[in-house]
Amino acid sequence: MKIVVQKFGGTSVATAESREKVLKRIIEAKNQGYSPVVVVSAMGRKGEPYATDTLLGLVKSVHDDVEPRELDLLISCGEVISSVVMATLLKSMGHQAIALTGGQAGICTDGAYGNAQILEIDPGFIRRSLAEGNIVIVAGFQGTSKDGSTTTLGRGGSDTTATALGAALEAEYVEIYTDVDGVMTTDPRVIPDAAIMKDVSYREICEMAYHGAKVIHPRAVEAAMSGKVPIKIKNTFSDAEGTLIAENVDERVITGLAHLTNISQIKVGPLDGSAVQMAKVKVLKTMAEARISIDMIGVAPNSIFFVINRDDTTGASRILQEAGYNIVVDTDCAKISVIGAGMEGVPGVMANAMESLDRAGVTVLQTSDSDITISFLIKETDVMRAMQILYERFDMGKS
Ligand code: ADP
Ligand code: MG
Repeated sequence: MKIVVQKFGGTSVATAESREKVLKRIIEAKNQGYSPVVVVSAMGRKGEPYATDTLLGLVKSVHDDVEPRELDLLISCGEVISSVVMATLLKSMGHQAIALTGGQAGICTDGAYGNAQILEIDPGFIRRSLAEGNIVIVAGFQGTSKDGSTTTLGRGGSDTTATALGAALEAEYVEIYTDVDGVMTTDPRVIPDAAIMKDVSYREICEMAYHGAKVIHPRAVEAAMSGKVPIKIKNTFSDAEGTLIAENVDERVITGLAHLTNISQIKVGPLDGSAVQMAKVKVLKTMAEARISIDMIGVAPNSIFFVINRDDTTGASRILQEAGYNIVVDTDCAKISVIGAGMEGVPGVMANAMESLDRAGVTVLQTSDSDITISFLIKETDVMRAMQILYERFDMGKS
């Protein structure tokens, strides 16, 4: 049995017209001799009747305090609806199909409602359904915890459903269908003519995704990587070849550019006295105990600074002030990152980037770097300009 997992995002299943295109892709795979396992997202985006945000709005309009277990039960419904619609459409066209929830597909998760991790997948039922000639449609973004509760997988969850199933089923590849022609060197909403990459390594795309490239979720890439299943990112609405994500790909010096908005910078200080080092440790511990995730940590002789999600600003400020620290908060920050798998050991990348940003009058508030990424914290209002400048500086118009 040659298995292919095909995942269709929200825009792909949103309208009768787009669902036609999805059906065509599934039937094409079947006609080519593949056994398709199809993973679907909920239909449409905010405001549309069966979109996840709409379901969320419905229950929140009743009361703001919904129990996490029940919230997951509710928000898993969008994908379930979508899977039944797709299976019914296939059957109406004379194909054999079956719709499954994540749990019925054998996806077992931990009990972290809203952001559950897949612990294991029992692919037995899917395999039997395929062997009986079915096209299997799995509701994305969900699983079942050990106690039988429905859980959801957090942001980009349907991508993870697809790649984890791909690995568990030893699929030939996983196709992620979306509304762009492939992975681009930067977010096409910022740079509309960004170049499309023919291929990209797991490591490169993971880093891009982690730093904000929304085209696929990093957790999904990791699941594919561990099973060594190649991923193809393709456009439901065009015949473009798409992008292959695999292990043995020639990596480039500069891969691409990604950005994250909605960031706050917090500076704690002046810290003085003899125990200044201990005070810095205590600040970090205070954040950890409050389960506030921090990034871009910088340490100066009398202060410590870091960034957090903007949503955490009020909570973090209150905790730090109650602990007696002086803080300065900047709530309008963004992080842009240059990712380059080949930049390890190549001198001057940081200098070149800083020089270009400086010339354009973009203030860099902080920087951080790892093996293959350098990041700049800037004001959110500078994002578009800074992205354009770095895009040109590193010649990313060519893939
Ligand atoms: P889906 O609902 O299909 O999962 P998403 O909105 O999650 O779709 O992901 C696709 C979107 O990712 C594109 O429309 C594009 O705007 C955005 N995106 C961000 N960075 C990139 C990038 N580097 N390459 C391609 N798309 C990107
Ligand atoms: Mg997505």
